[in-house]
Amino acid sequence: MSANDEIKLEPYPFCKSAVVTIGRSHVRGARVGAWIHYGVCGNCGARGPTTDENGFFYLTPQAAAAAWNLRRAAL
Ligand SMILES: [Zn+2]
Repeated sequence: MSANDEIKLEPYPFCKSAVVTIGRSHVRGARVGAWIHYGVCGNCGARGPTTDENGFFYLTPQAAAAAWNLRRAAL
């Protein structure tokens, strides 16, 4: 999977905004920092999940997008 693959994001269900993007934040790990990714609603700023069910950060936009699409309704 390349970085240029198109990422489709479902609309945010609460405010119905279809303007959803992938945001990222830099976090410091024990040894090296990492960029974590999450879906962000462009209307209200709501963030999607940043970690999976095991507490691991999403390190790629693709993983964050998949999580947003699967779990956004539960937020
Ligand atoms: Zn919103």
